[in-house]
Amino acid sequence: MANIGFEKFDIENTFLDPRRNFQPTVVKSEVRIDPLTGRTGHFAHFGAVKPQQLDLEKYLEPQGKGFCPFCSTRREALTPKFPGDVIPEGRLARGEALLVPNLHPYDVYSSVCIMTHGHVVPLAQFSYDQLFDSFNLGLDFLKRVKDVDPSLPYHIMGWNYMPPSGGGLVHPHQQYFATGNPGNRFTDELKASEQFYESCQRDYWSELVSIEQKNDKRYIGQLGDSHWMTSYVSLGMLGEILCVFPGVYSIDDFTTANVRELVDGLQKVFSYFGKAGIYSFNASLLFGSVGQRFFSVHFRIVPRTFLNIRDYAPDMNFFQVVLEEPISVVWPEDVCREVKSFF
Ligand SMILES: [Zn+2]
Repeated sequence: MANIGFEKFDIENTFLDPRRNFQPTVVKSEVRIDPLTGRTGHFAHFGAVKPQQLDLEKYLEPQGKGFCPFCSTRREALTPKFPGDVIPEGRLARGEALLVPNLHPYDVYSSVCIMTHGHVVPLAQFSYDQLFDSFNLGLDFLKRVKDVDPSLPYHIMGWNYMPPSGGGLVHPHQQYFATGNPGNRFTDELKASEQFYESCQRDYWSELVSIEQKNDKRYIGQLGDSHWMTSYVSLGMLGEILCVFPGVYSIDDFTTANVRELVDGLQKVFSYFGKAGIYSFNASLLFGSVGQRFFSVHFRIVPRTFLNIRDYAPDMNFFQVVLEEPISVVWPEDVCREVKSFF
């Protein structure tokens, strides 16, 4: 039988409330335990954080724009090229997308995919082709790198969109890299997925999909091989959306149809973001090593916001940075209901 459990702690805090003549007031919050890793996440502070509207026009003004090496008039001259033994043609191009080495690399093979000609692209204006071409180019790069150097087993797409996400340039770009050190959460999930497989003889991610489908509390919908849901423990203040490809384990298994499903779903998520006033996010597409059958490919997208645009306080604090504890001010079950209407 399945070994996935959704455990939580209910927390109550009592104080004498100045808004109610110092009468005792009870505020409830919750700590949830991630069913895979055992890592916890807090749900508290409900309704206290609203996504802030960004003035995208400001990023086009000369003062706000600053210097952008990705703008099409310059990108050929100012971006680096790969050595011939990695990418013989130097760079990869498809439609508007151009994939180049990262001038500030994170690992042995580290690339940036410039997604568009436009410097500022609001979420509603991303075309299907811009997204499809960018993902395809990045996956092509990762597949080529895997052939050049199979010793780096993990493949990652990372995307910081707009300044609240930590993105240093507003010009849309994704990062693709191969690595032996994929980060703490990836490593924890990988180990826990392997343990789950050894003890249950099943892939955790496939099991998660079927349990969430049955529970029908956080399951958003299916597009081809992709299953979209909200995570039981949200990684972001404003929630998190998870897309799992059960039975698709590595970059070798990920097909063009899977890219289409990802882009289809992403455009629906962007429509939800538009309605919810979300202007910024972090996203990752994560691939385990070739040959294993326990760590399915999955994609996570986490809305980000400034807490206010008076002093640009970010939505991360000591909880996330020092304690590595996510805090969410929205319930995954509520986010699921909202997103579902776009699927
Ligand atoms: Zn630009």
